[in-house]
Amino acid sequence: MAVQGVIDRYRPLLNIPDHTQTVTLLEGSTPLIPIPRIAEELGKGCKAWVKFEGLNPTGSFKDRGMTVAISEAVGRGAKAVICASTGNTAASAAAYAARSGLRAIVLIPKGKVAAGKLAGAVAYGADVYQIDGSFDDALSLVVEISNRTPIALVNSLNPYRLEGQKTAAFEICDELGFSPDWLCLPVGNAGNISAYWMGFKEYYELKGIPRPHILGVQAEGAAPLVLGHPVEHPETVATAIRIGKPARGEQAIEAAEESKGRIIAVSDDEILAAQRKLAASGIWVELASAAGLAGLIHEINAGRFDASGKRITIVCTGHGMKDPDIIASSMPAPRLIPAKSDALEEAIMGSAK
Ligand SMILES: *Cc1c(COP(=O)(O)O)cnc(C)c1O
Repeated sequence: MAVQGVIDRYRPLLNIPDHTQTVTLLEGSTPLIPIPRIAEELGKGCKAWVKFEGLNPTGSFKDRGMTVAISEAVGRGAKAVICASTGNTAASAAAYAARSGLRAIVLIPKGKVAAGKLAGAVAYGADVYQIDGSFDDALSLVVEISNRTPIALVNSLNPYRLEGQKTAAFEICDELGFSPDWLCLPVGNAGNISAYWMGFKEYYELKGIPRPHILGVQAEGAAPLVLGHPVEHPETVATAIRIGKPARGEQAIEAAEESKGRIIAVSDDEILAAQRKLAASGIWVELASAAGLAGLIHEINAGRFDASGKRITIVCTGHGMKDPDIIASSMPAPRLIPAKSDALEEAIMGSAK
């Protein structure tokens, strides 16, 4: 069967208006990659998969929601869209807007966006503004502008974003033929955890597929849902979840409670270690995307989680290639050798273990 985007693949299950005009880059249908070596470390008889959302057209899960948000905006005659972004929403909005001939305006917090994400937004032709403030400040601004003008808001406050993003839950169930016992994922503005929970609940009602427990993971320096109050100056190396006032915070807490799961926080070091562990299985994800696995390991090490015999899906939300700087700055540069076979042989043999 020909590849379909998420609207065509799941249209009857999406709560979207009739005026929606599909704008797609054939997002979704991302692989569910088994990670047997990591699963073995997590617990005896544990089965684990990575839902690799970094393989969407612009490198993150944001494309699932953006195809729907832009399709709806185009259908009602919008001429421009706006969003605040830690990077991936900007690149995604810019790409889908370009696809449909809309103007895209994106606001990013100054100096805190990975180079590859900013480059994407620029390459797709968006109007990019950096603001001297946080993501949360940028979000307040775009909400205000979209209320005052006909420019359509495409942050995850837009309900159509979640309609698109919930299709990832459908795909996991369709591919496995069941739902996992646990789903682990990073939590920033909390749209994605809310969307997954919607998706799993809908499949439970429609098909009787049991729902997973959800483990949502924030970074210690940006953990408003763990602390129970907003964080004024969120800080973490995982810039995609560097958010102090999650727009969908209440829904995220509901998802954790209803699913009998929880939302926890992990340190930047734990996130960096999880990124390396995934890369050692051939899956390079951006830092925020490693938070799900980091959280799972954190809970296991603390004796609060028994992974043995469990089936676990780890959502890796974005690709590592957009943020190469973190690797360049945290790992040694490649060794320089003369262009001579002797020197090469000596280097290779000398460093063989
Ligand atoms: C947006 C984003 C997140 C956070 O998702 P929310 O819906 O804001 O919680 C996590 N990882 C990546 C790579 C993202 O782009």
